[in-house]
Amino acid sequence: MRTCIICRKDKDETEFNDEHVIPDSIDGYYHIFSVCTTCNSFIGSKIDNKLTNHQFVKFQRHTLKIKGKSGTIPNPFDGTHTLKEDENQKLRLELDAEGKFEIKLLPNVPKQITDNFQIIIDQKDENKTDEIINKFLTRNGISKDKVRIDKKYSSKERPWVHASMQIDIKDFKMGLLKIAYEFAVDSIPKYFNDSNAITISKILKNADFEKLYDNIAFIGDGLNKEILKPFSHLIDFENNNHYLILFDSDDIGLIGFVNLFNVFNIGIRLSDKSGFIQESMIVGKNDLEKKNFKKYTLNQIVSHTYSPIEYRFQYFIPSDKVLLQEFIQNDKAEDFGFYKIGEEIPFFKRNGEVVYSNIELKLNQEQLTKIPFGDTINELITQINLDEELYIKLLPINKLYRVVSVRIEQYRKRKI
Ligand SMILES: [Zn+2]
Repeated sequence: MRTCIICRKDKDETEFNDEHVIPDSIDGYYHIFSVCTTCNSFIGSKIDNKLTNHQFVKFQRHTLKIKGKSGTIPNPFDGTHTLKEDENQKLRLELDAEGKFEIKLLPNVPKQITDNFQIIIDQKDENKTDEIINKFLTRNGISKDKVRIDKKYSSKERPWVHASMQIDIKDFKMGLLKIAYEFAVDSIPKYFNDSNAITISKILKNADFEKLYDNIAFIGDGLNKEILKPFSHLIDFENNNHYLILFDSDDIGLIGFVNLFNVFNIGIRLSDKSGFIQESMIVGKNDLEKKNFKKYTLNQIVSHTYSPIEYRFQYFIPSDKVLLQEFIQNDKAEDFGFYKIGEEIPFFKRNGEVVYSNIELKLNQEQLTKIPFGDTINELITQINLDEELYIKLLPINKLYRVVSVRIEQYRKRKI
């Protein structure tokens, strides 16, 4: 038995199947197996489709040539449009073999019959001319031998087309809520029993669009990129990947952010409580090029984004001129280095006895003051002032020097 995260009913293992957290038709590679088959197909037809049929998603799928489950690239301009100079002339914008738009005029027959009338047919339909004319004459009760047919050809390069389309600015948010909720439940097991999580699963189970707006607090309108700016030094949103972020903070609770194609951007308050994530953040990256989905903790993001830790020591400089000269010479030496035990730099007492086999044992002590330096975006620099007399051994001179403070430095190399 297992519990479905949408209907919250206990069901047999066989009643579960593969749920795409990010829909298949937008190249989602994040799968979970905790949604029952009944909820899965309900979600697909009532919630996911609000997202996958969204006009903006169609544009994006067309640009990126994403075929999705149906196997076809959607035409974002499907439907009937008109010529700007002649509102009565209907047309379609069809995709040619290379995916370029081609105008296809729909047969244009007169509404009233006069002595002289014209029927407009797209040249691409020339082989259907007789069929179209015959149909029209029959429908109007005119015998073919009573009319004389003249053919005229005309063309116009790149005419203006009048197209109108409907863009949903509300209901697609249900699709974003589903993604954020499933990502949270899958990544933070204890979130499932949170009171907000219970409310959200009810809204999703019934695709209750009214309750969506009454009960869920959204950050941004779904199309506002600004809301993700606080993460832009770590995450590269300027591409076509999908990113999911769980952000846990004492001030605002648990927030789920969803970024699809860098077109849809939203924050959703998943809980007013906090303390769900130890490292305050979990990021999921759906990589369209590598065709995979990966989760990262904040530590993993930082180690991927920033260079390895470097230590810079600030010494208690000898006042004696000779000793100072000796120190400077050693600092310039080609084989300058720190004495290490294994891979670690130890801290010594003045008498040469090792106090900390690894300087980190000292630097991680909670009572020490940690002073941030650098811009905290491109540079992560922390200065730690020592509260006891400690020495490190410098090479090649092989002498102890007193350290007053240590700077831990990391520099930004890339983003995820
Ligand atoms: Zn279910």
